[in-house]
Amino acid sequence: MITIDEMASFCKRKGLIYPSSEIYGGMSGFFDYGPYGSEMKKNLKDEWWKFHVRSREDIVGIDGSIITNPLVWKASGHVEGFEDLMLVAEDGSFEIRADQFLEEKLGKNFDGVTAEQVNELVQKHKLKAPNGKSFRKCESFNLMFTTNVGPKANEKSKAYLRPETAQIIFADFKLIQENARMKLPFGIAQMGRAFRNEISPRNFLFRCREFEQLEIEYFVHPKQKKCPYMKEYEDFELNVFSADMQEKNLKPKKMKVKEAVKNNLMNEWHAYFLALETDWFVRLGCNPDNFRARQHLKDELAHYSTDCWDLEYKFPFGWKELEGIADRSDYDLKRHMEYSKKDLSLFDEASKEKIVPHVIAEPSLGVDRAFLVFLYEAYHDDKKRGNIVLKLHPKIAPVNVAVLPLVSNKENVLGNAREVFNELKKDYVCFFDTGGSIGRRYARQDEIGTPYCVTIDFETLEDGKVTIRDRDTTKQERVKIEDIGKHLRF
Ligand code: ATP
Repeated sequence: MITIDEMASFCKRKGLIYPSSEIYGGMSGFFDYGPYGSEMKKNLKDEWWKFHVRSREDIVGIDGSIITNPLVWKASGHVEGFEDLMLVAEDGSFEIRADQFLEEKLGKNFDGVTAEQVNELVQKHKLKAPNGKSFRKCESFNLMFTTNVGPKANEKSKAYLRPETAQIIFADFKLIQENARMKLPFGIAQMGRAFRNEISPRNFLFRCREFEQLEIEYFVHPKQKKCPYMKEYEDFELNVFSADMQEKNLKPKKMKVKEAVKNNLMNEWHAYFLALETDWFVRLGCNPDNFRARQHLKDELAHYSTDCWDLEYKFPFGWKELEGIADRSDYDLKRHMEYSKKDLSLFDEASKEKIVPHVIAEPSLGVDRAFLVFLYEAYHDDKKRGNIVLKLHPKIAPVNVAVLPLVSNKENVLGNAREVFNELKKDYVCFFDTGGSIGRRYARQDEIGTPYCVTIDFETLEDGKVTIRDRDTTKQERVKIEDIGKHLRF
């Protein structure tokens, strides 16, 4: 597995991702998706939306604004408590997120650690900044970016860039439920940008200051917590790492979803969503062995959360959160009811009761972390070919088909290739390339993960056939121009 820095430089070389505004020295925690990266990211998001929203009756989507009435963030608790602990060297020359620093130095997870505990650990282990300076007392830092709305910059015009997409769903909950006539249990999904002024952005796309999220709030009747979709996934295998296993220093264990529920390790909805989310990655070509379901330890849980599981991925820098799936109960809706003084309860037809629904699961996935996962799963250094092959699932690959005229100086071959290109681009993302030897051109497409190359040569002019080359097997097939579509599998 290549390191995260090697992956970052590969992405820059191949037009996938650049450090943002690099000509001015860049800006830590901000990235630009290049020509191939932006196509791939769009495919990833489209696949997510198709799978989680369009193919289901019980989930609808919204596209909320990034800046909202700041009361949204007061009600949600972000203004007061969306904070990370920070360690700052006494001369101010170095600052770092405290839990990350402790994890690096002491080799275990410190999610949920308190300021007092950080101070004690720093003392006990005599931890210092890289320049040998001691640390000041641990400080907390609110991660929300602020801005001002309107011409005057003052307290009254202060607003926030959203640090998550979820709260917009709660604020619009009543309208969405009524307009889309949703009946419990149902979900509301949203994808979009989120902003966090991370203290120490690092590991390339893993921790940025501007990123995108794919989130679902799944609402149920507070007393009806059975999942009607369990059958679909009861035999699906999860790599389970419960809080109890972690406390007893046991290893994660593979088990079927039904076993995890029967043994009371997780409730049905958590089991269902952990399986659904793993399955989404597996269907798009990922290896299930690189994913695990880790339960939060008691002291990691947010105060409103009764249980939370992370879908973790084996990144080159260790097992890390890819997606969080929290049980948020009725915390958010109740808070918004309190702050807005609006009734956000609904009448549940089945029980004939007026209730405030519970969020039994909030699957929250970062687009940029998912993008990294697909890159790592696809990346193959093919020594025989002498180039990298990105074995991306064809649905995720930035380019579907490359059209390559064998020679670039013969009008008739070029003209023929253009015709094929013009036809194919009606249905596929295509790329026309005349530069360099055919071997070099195949290698270039391998490196951005193009599943098919179509080559037009002199014989094409005679027999109307082209060569289709498969990225993974390098097998070549001669097919009639009008049959190309039949040979492309997506
Ligand atoms: P972490 O503990 O890694 O800071 P978190 O628990 O604060 O993450 P959530 O608030 O649960 O993260 O956000 C949901 C998802 O959004 C995460 O699982 C992750 O995929 C993504 N995400 C969160 N913060 C970032 C970030 N700074 N950069 C990229 N993706 C992020």
